[in-house]
Amino acid sequence: MAKANMSPVKVAMPEQPPLIRGRNFLEVATGYTPEQAMEEATRCLQCKNQPCVDGCPVNVPIPSFIAELAAGRFEEAYRLIKQENNLPAICGRVCPQENQCEGRCIRAKKGESVGIGRLERFAADYGMAQGLPEAEPLPANGKKVAVVGGGPAGLTCAGDLAKLGYEVTLFEALHALGGVLMYGIPEFRLPKGLVEEEIDKVVKLGVTIERNVVVGRSITVEELFEEGYGAVFVGSGAGLPRFMKIEGENYNGVYSANEFLTRVNLMRAYEFPKSPTPVRVGKRVAVVGGGNVAMDAARTALRLGAEEVTIVYRRGLDELPARREEIHHAQEEGIRFRLLSNPLRIKGENGWVTGMECIEMELGEPDASGRRSPVEKPDSLFELSLDTVIIAIGQGPNPLIRQTTPGLETHRWGGIVVEEATMRTSKSGVYAGGDVVTGAATVILAMGAGKKAAAAIHQSLSESI
Ligand code: FAD
Ligand code: SF4
Repeated sequence: MAKANMSPVKVAMPEQPPLIRGRNFLEVATGYTPEQAMEEATRCLQCKNQPCVDGCPVNVPIPSFIAELAAGRFEEAYRLIKQENNLPAICGRVCPQENQCEGRCIRAKKGESVGIGRLERFAADYGMAQGLPEAEPLPANGKKVAVVGGGPAGLTCAGDLAKLGYEVTLFEALHALGGVLMYGIPEFRLPKGLVEEEIDKVVKLGVTIERNVVVGRSITVEELFEEGYGAVFVGSGAGLPRFMKIEGENYNGVYSANEFLTRVNLMRAYEFPKSPTPVRVGKRVAVVGGGNVAMDAARTALRLGAEEVTIVYRRGLDELPARREEIHHAQEEGIRFRLLSNPLRIKGENGWVTGMECIEMELGEPDASGRRSPVEKPDSLFELSLDTVIIAIGQGPNPLIRQTTPGLETHRWGGIVVEEATMRTSKSGVYAGGDVVTGAATVILAMGAGKKAAAAIHQSLSESI
């Protein structure tokens, strides 16, 4: 092995400058060149015990694909990644690698980890640009499996089972596949053309797609079994927005982040009037919440022409749950942060929002989760003048499937209960994974769950093949 490059920092990722990108929907990070990818790849020490792989929910053979990149064998790197990961161009862009593979990388002990996500993105983009062939699925085994939901959990489960020769039908409520990848994460972080291309490769494995089918309404889970499906995987996500339940939430100009981002991403409101779906964004916008969804909504509002966008969050900077990279990008683009602040009431005139009354908060004693709870600071009311309010304080699972599937055990908050090793639910033949099981989480955890369920379904159904 050639001597490793011991630079303590990653090869920098080229990016659009903040003042330019804040006014367009093009991708912020523009990706490594082949030379940059090869240079970054030489930072990997090829550790024998591979701690990075233990941190990857879909077991990508990280050191092996990085070694191929370092040697300039990009095609082989792509092939190795695709053996385990059906959606690498997506993961390379949006996975919180700092908490997964890169969080375990030995190089992070002294300096920055190897840029595993950036390298995965490079290899995936290379494979797509070159139109590299995909692995052929095994011959059909005559067994039918139904997958509910076309987000990362459902797509992964469907792709893995199709590769094994199952006849998979995926039912999606919307007209487009991808779940949050299509309707939630904005174009400037995850270009939709690329998502469609990567999903298309899963579909071409032989997965039948039924769009605009709401399972629980158009057909129930029990009826799927009557139609001859041997197993059903539920990956219906957590797309039901939560509200603050304060006065004024029904004024015009108040959106849930879910509705706002769906209109902009899936219905391409940013192309209005070319697109028929407008979004009204005023000059002054507040986004309530501190997660990835809040950062995405704030940065989208800026790109739609807002002059002043403020994140209102009830805890402090250290407690913001969004990825550090997203917070950094938002700060660079000029998003304001009104931290330790909580909305009390949305104000309006003639049916339209005009402002928000808030109160300052202080951090009190840690709660059951160990996080310090925010408490109201006496005599600290203040008001923001606003034209638009976007609420991004979390989402939960839609109740439809649990209401229409007798025997399916769920938590009090609505998530489906599963056996962790197999993603089996309390109802025989039904498996579940992704946000519908964990609550709002991450793309890679949803994919890991889809993969686990596919393996368990295969084990169960192959006994009868
Ligand atoms: P989803 O992606 O929600 O997909 C579920 C699918 O099921 C949807 O297509 C839905 O239409 C369909 N469906 C629902 N009910 C039915 C039904 N009854 N019948 C048929 N179909 C149904 N994660 C990251 O890792 N990195 C990020 O940067 C990141 N950013 C995010 C930004 C935003 C704005 C949001 C909202 C989330 C973000 N996440 C991020 C979280 C991540 O996207 C989710 O954890 C992930 O998409 C969950 O995947 P899933 O397949 O479980 O559900
Ligand atoms: Fe390479 Fe880091 Fe994985 Fe070691 S832990 S093999 S240095 S990526």
